[in-house]
Amino acid sequence: MGKAVHRAFTLPQASAIGCAMSGNSSGNETMAPVRDHMRALFGFDEFRGRQADVVERVMAGESTLAVMPTGAGKSLTYQLPATMLEGNCVVVSPLIALMHDQLRMARANGIRAATLTSVDADWRETVDAFRAGGLDLLYVAPERASQPQFRELLHSSPLALFAVDEAHCVSEWGHDFRPDYRQLRPLMDGFPSVPRLALTATADARTRADILDQLGIPESGLVIAGFDRPNIRYAMDHRDGPVRQLATLIAENPGPGIVYALTRRKVEDLARKLAIATGRPVLPYHAGLDPDIRVANQAAFVASEDMIIIATIAFGMGIDKPDVRFVAHAGIPKSIEAYYQETGRAGRDGDPATAMMLWGAGDFAQARQRLSGVSEDRRAGERARLDALAMLVEAPGCRRAVLLRHFGEDPPERCGNCDNCLDAPEVSDATELARKLLSAVYRTGQSFGFGHIQKVLTGAEDERIRQRRHDRLSVYGIVGDEEAYLLRPLSRALQARGALVATEHGGLALDGDAREILKGEKTVEIVVPPKKGRRKPRDRGANPVGDPLFDALRELRRELAVEAGLPPYVIFHDATLRELVARRPGSIEEFGAIGGVGTKKLEAYGDAFLEVIRAH
Ligand code: ADP
Ligand code: ZN
Repeated sequence: MGKAVHRAFTLPQASAIGCAMSGNSSGNETMAPVRDHMRALFGFDEFRGRQADVVERVMAGESTLAVMPTGAGKSLTYQLPATMLEGNCVVVSPLIALMHDQLRMARANGIRAATLTSVDADWRETVDAFRAGGLDLLYVAPERASQPQFRELLHSSPLALFAVDEAHCVSEWGHDFRPDYRQLRPLMDGFPSVPRLALTATADARTRADILDQLGIPESGLVIAGFDRPNIRYAMDHRDGPVRQLATLIAENPGPGIVYALTRRKVEDLARKLAIATGRPVLPYHAGLDPDIRVANQAAFVASEDMIIIATIAFGMGIDKPDVRFVAHAGIPKSIEAYYQETGRAGRDGDPATAMMLWGAGDFAQARQRLSGVSEDRRAGERARLDALAMLVEAPGCRRAVLLRHFGEDPPERCGNCDNCLDAPEVSDATELARKLLSAVYRTGQSFGFGHIQKVLTGAEDERIRQRRHDRLSVYGIVGDEEAYLLRPLSRALQARGALVATEHGGLALDGDAREILKGEKTVEIVVPPKKGRRKPRDRGANPVGDPLFDALRELRRELAVEAGLPPYVIFHDATLRELVARRPGSIEEFGAIGGVGTKKLEAYGDAFLEVIRAH
């Protein structure tokens, strides 16, 4: 690769910039050349969220831990400085798939990037380029950090920055501890003047403190962006026909989507049924598939613009597909943390996306049953995680507010972009009914399923009831028609909160705070089930439907992608295509002003796209 266009623009050394920037409150002024450079490289006009703060620190040579949600644009915070500062930037990343994905995206923007992994054939060129100072970014796995040859290589040419991606892997408190990350500190300590930038999307307070400590970053270097993903619409519904419910969601979302199911069998089953029900390309993904098929299915999904992948939670780590339009859960996730991470794979490109969870009381019952197999020291924590999840699905108010509060934020009461904000559910105080239900469970001996309990409460004529003499109980027939329809959702809610649990033989038994409810010390509120069709259909996706120019631009993008062996989104995001339709640039200069069009992409694709625009 020759010198990229942007290299013509060079800033003084990091330390010099540090002096210029520190103690200067007009950060905007000093950041102006950086912003210009961002415009030329990526075609973005403005920094997003706290990107500017992070970039400013990196340019000033200060070490930083950036905690930013998925899709916030973490890569830009090291890629941009890497192209401006003198010297190479080393990027540590835990997965080869992630590195190669980043590599494609970086190169598409004209950034001089390379990877040193076990599967790369171009080691010699990469090492030569690094020695000659001809690389912006060198991606490596943490295992390299402990190798003496690698240390020597780093000493052979000036370094601008150490970037440590997925930095929570360094902490045992994080959810993906990788012991090799512990080798990074000794390596980086060998280069005391080179700043460090650690990046992660998920780290609670304890993990954050640990990362700072383990990577030698001062406390003042912590930059936290909020957890909110405003473009994701959260929705949760009781599961009462998953194929139909998912098919509806898929029909409303023409773009790519992920459906998570709990077991391999469910994955296979849903994949088959949804392929028939929707007519869309649908592929399964789970650990039981032949590895070649798994890799092929994942690659097909990454390249596709309309595929649905049905997967166990084994799928997702290491996938950076920005145009995923929905993530659905066909059963409950493990925890709110897992839910946030899994749904976070939707809408990384900032366009509207949906996160839909279909849950059943049985999901909670099973999860609670599994608690008994958990070691005692972990059981309380696991139970608390389930309780938090139950609160989320049962919440009558804003889902986003529940999520963000869970992560320690103080969000507004309503977000306006979740199911409950868009269409407030009816809430009912069901304490009295709950007492009737719980006492029926108690008086029948805590061994009957919901169906029987319901019959007892509504006074049904039934052989089994007569045999057991349940028609003589005080609870027989105490629930009238006007309340009977609330029994099932109430039972679900009581199971979700743990006041009712399923016995081994499918019966219901009291547990949790059932006694307090019975004694009138606790209240029970439930969301009244929606009448069929209550939910408004989601607004159409952001893309114009049936616009001939938009379709033609997409077609061109697809052709170029196939030709280059790249996923379409590496060429341009949908947002860029939409802006092209709206502004119809007539010249290369006008084309270059479109969002997402940097110098490199302008050169590579400008003429081809202009031609299509002129022809429409
Ligand atoms: P993260 O690693 O934080 O999940 P990425 O670095 O993958 O996020 O960026 C997410 C998406 O946001 C990318 O498609 C990127 O092109 C886009 N993006 C990043 N920064 C900006 C910006 N300042 N303006 C517009 N789009 C941006
Ligand atoms: Zn809301």
